[in-house]
Amino acid sequence: MFALDDELAQWDSLLQEVQGSERFELLTALAWHLRQRDPTRALQLSAEIVPLLESLPAAAVLHRARLLLIAAEPQWLRGELDTAQYHLEQALLLCAQAAPALPAAAAACRADACWTMAWVSNDRGVSAAGNSWLRQAAAAAREAGDAVRIDVIDAAAGICDAFGDWQAAQQRWNGRFDADLDGVPPIAAGWISDFFGTCAFQRSEFGRAIGHLMLSFETALATGQIRRAIIIAANIGNGFTSLNAHEAALDWMQRGLDLARPTGWPLSIGMCLMQTAETLRQLGQRDAAQSLLREALNTLAPLSGSRAYAVALEYQGDLALDLGNHVAALDSFTRLAARGDALCQNDFQSSARRGQAHALSHLARPGEALAAAQAALALARDHADASGQIAALNVLADIHARHDLPGPELMMAPNAVLHYLQLALEIAATIEGYTVPGALLDAAAREYAAIGDYERAYNIALRANAARDQTHSKEATNRAIAMQVQYQTERAQTESEHHRQLAAAEAQRAEVLQQTSATLEHLSAIGQEITAHLDAAAVFRALDRHVHGLLDATHFSIFLLTANGEELVCTFGIEAGKPLPPIRVPLSSPSANSARCVRERREILIELDEQGVTPHLIPGTLPTMTLLFAPLRVGERVMGAMTVQSLRARSYGERERLIFRTLCAYGAIALDNASAYRQVAATQEQLLEKNLELEQAYKALEEVSLTDQLTGLRNRRFFLQNVDADVAMSLRGYETGQHRELTECDLQAQNDLVFFMVDLDHFKAVNDRYGHAAGDSILVQMQERLREVFRESDYVIRWGGEEFLVLARATHRDDAAGLAERMRRVVAERDFELPDGGRLSKTCSIGFACFPFLPEQPRLLSWSQVVELADQGLYIAKRSGRNAWAALYSTEATRAEGVFPRLMQKLDQAVAEGEVRLVSNLAGPLVLGGERRRIGLSSDLELG
Ligand code: GH3
Ligand code: MG
Ligand code: MG
Repeated sequence: MFALDDELAQWDSLLQEVQGSERFELLTALAWHLRQRDPTRALQLSAEIVPLLESLPAAAVLHRARLLLIAAEPQWLRGELDTAQYHLEQALLLCAQAAPALPAAAAACRADACWTMAWVSNDRGVSAAGNSWLRQAAAAAREAGDAVRIDVIDAAAGICDAFGDWQAAQQRWNGRFDADLDGVPPIAAGWISDFFGTCAFQRSEFGRAIGHLMLSFETALATGQIRRAIIIAANIGNGFTSLNAHEAALDWMQRGLDLARPTGWPLSIGMCLMQTAETLRQLGQRDAAQSLLREALNTLAPLSGSRAYAVALEYQGDLALDLGNHVAALDSFTRLAARGDALCQNDFQSSARRGQAHALSHLARPGEALAAAQAALALARDHADASGQIAALNVLADIHARHDLPGPELMMAPNAVLHYLQLALEIAATIEGYTVPGALLDAAAREYAAIGDYERAYNIALRANAARDQTHSKEATNRAIAMQVQYQTERAQTESEHHRQLAAAEAQRAEVLQQTSATLEHLSAIGQEITAHLDAAAVFRALDRHVHGLLDATHFSIFLLTANGEELVCTFGIEAGKPLPPIRVPLSSPSANSARCVRERREILIELDEQGVTPHLIPGTLPTMTLLFAPLRVGERVMGAMTVQSLRARSYGERERLIFRTLCAYGAIALDNASAYRQVAATQEQLLEKNLELEQAYKALEEVSLTDQLTGLRNRRFFLQNVDADVAMSLRGYETGQHRELTECDLQAQNDLVFFMVDLDHFKAVNDRYGHAAGDSILVQMQERLREVFRESDYVIRWGGEEFLVLARATHRDDAAGLAERMRRVVAERDFELPDGGRLSKTCSIGFACFPFLPEQPRLLSWSQVVELADQGLYIAKRSGRNAWAALYSTEATRAEGVFPRLMQKLDQAVAEGEVRLVSNLAGPLVLGGERRRIGLSSDLELG
């Protein structure tokens, strides 16, 4: 994991002598251990290794992984977190690939990748992810069986825990590490004492903390852990500042800065600058402090999620308080509270409340100030944070001095101000090596004087002076000023170069802007085109065309979220002109950049180095050097992500990213439109389909409702639905035909309707004798016989029971008798078959009548009255002996007036008078009188 400087020197000298695989191993080791000491050389060595990899296929996978770690490290340190993370993920994939063959070596490599991943996460400010990576690193180190790695990683996990809640951390890690570090390998010892130091720091045991941290510093420095060494130097400086030992503090900050400056690493430089600024502030050098702190915040800006940035916010708040800028102070402390909560780091919570209280008190909001200060005190007590308590008590005293507020209930001191000051002094006395600040003593002296206790006031004032002498020594102040001046001078020296760069950058920006405005116009035209498509495939094609027109993009793909939001599907992808497969990526995927881009709703730019240390790992894809991912969002909704990738390094500058962003915005809108349109279209299609189904179902239902289920004939319902139309046509034929002066015969042949009533004779007896099924089978056979006689176009209706109604259309009235006779015979002359195979002879009786009844007055009788006349005929046939037919015809003597009731009630008379002609197949006398049954046309029309 880490190696001593001496070892490195040895390897370096060996390098001249060895060849072959030995040299190869040596090169890898050297590059790895130079990763922080000399990142440039580390990458040069990497470049030398790459071509050698081909000859060593077995171990090559892990070596590739190691090279990726070597590349990732400086990226992390430079604050290029996305790129670093990308390399680390690739390295993890390779470790997994190598694990079956080389389990221990792969686990060690995986431990190192997880380790760096943890720091990348912490620099982002996602401490939960950081902790989880450290756990994975620890597990991998255990698999690898490497005791030093295990200790280092556990100690780092302890340190991270201590920031969250040091008491819990101590409890958790108590017993894991021995306070006696004799015999512990130096690298492990360095990290373990860092853990002890951090815990002591959190307990305000600054002296002890400094002791531990100094040992860690030496180890870090001797083992190439430059970033750790810088952080520890800054923390030692902070420890001294907390003890008000400013001279020593400055000494350590100087060391930190000396280490940090040449690296250019933002977090390292930012930390040293802000600690120095804080010391300057405490020495009363506010202007110098301010300019340095501003510098620090600028440097740390890309890492605004980190713990270091939160610390800088606290310093900024305190400086604003000193400068009397209470609004700004309140803002800084409010932001600090939010960052502390987000980081889950307890130590910020008390100081944030304390700072807010102080600012609020000066902003004439005493009630809120008091509540915040009390909260700060309670939090500091909870976490046994002595210096936090002193600070909170100080503010409580200040609040009571400024505002007339009720004091605490239990109070020995003469007033609330003194009560809190005394408490602060008492706690100060418990911190070893702590010099009580002059300001705190001054305040106490002032307060005693105010209540007339001059003797005490004088004594305390003397202590205050002594303290100030001790803390604000001339040397310390001078040194602080010197450091600040040195920093500023150095900056001034680079200033001219800086200005040149600025001017160049400015010129470039102007050019970019000019290009941009032309591009923007072009883009807006493209936008119109893209968003005009309503079909996703067309949108993809348009985007693809324009992406290639505007950007260097060997790879272009679009990922869309699935409906359940759990996966991304590559719905369109082209690389070097070839389509990519529609791969699916879980949204939770920790390694897929597309998933991360959607999850974090942000653009991700990954810029790989030109040295070619990155053998690309996604099988079948090209080794792209610049990868840009952007979310596809419409309003707050993220639909997926788009990515362009180039084979060239650093292909996407500000202008290209602007273009891509714009294309993403248009693409998102267009795809959203397309999906909305698709949904509407699909819904419409579904509706149409449903309608069709409904219509079919309705038709089927209607078909059923119009059909007799036993015989398959039409039923009474069908007849009633259709008869009117036929009657109307017949009437029209008669009425218009009259004008055309057709022969009467032609007229009647075309337009007569004949209604036949057919009823089986003594049908009841069939049921009684042969059973209902036998009766049914005869009814079914009746259907066939009716169809033999009548035409397809005639309506053959099962009127009910064993009775049938036939409406023969366009049948001349004089032909009706022939039809009736055929019908009678068709039934009577052929046996019916019974279900048991037996045969049965049956007869039927038929009555009929024609419509119009009186051709000269077609509307004289309605169709239903004509049906009643047919029924009359049927019953005449029945009474006259059955197996017969009978019909009522009008004659020339038919009197229109009152004809229907006369025919129904006094048929004998009408026949006798010649008003109606009775036609039958029967030769003998017809029986006319007797009870006539109702056929129920006027009521109960439905068969049911
Ligand atoms: P008539 O010659 O006077 O018409 O005598 P009939 O027995 O045919 O007359 P009636 O109207 O008294 O009896 C009709 C019988 O038809 C009554 C019932 O048993 C039978 N019937 C009616 N509908 C069905 C049916 O769907 N299936 C069977 N098997 N029998 C039916
Ligand atoms: Mg009958
Ligand atoms: Mg009947």
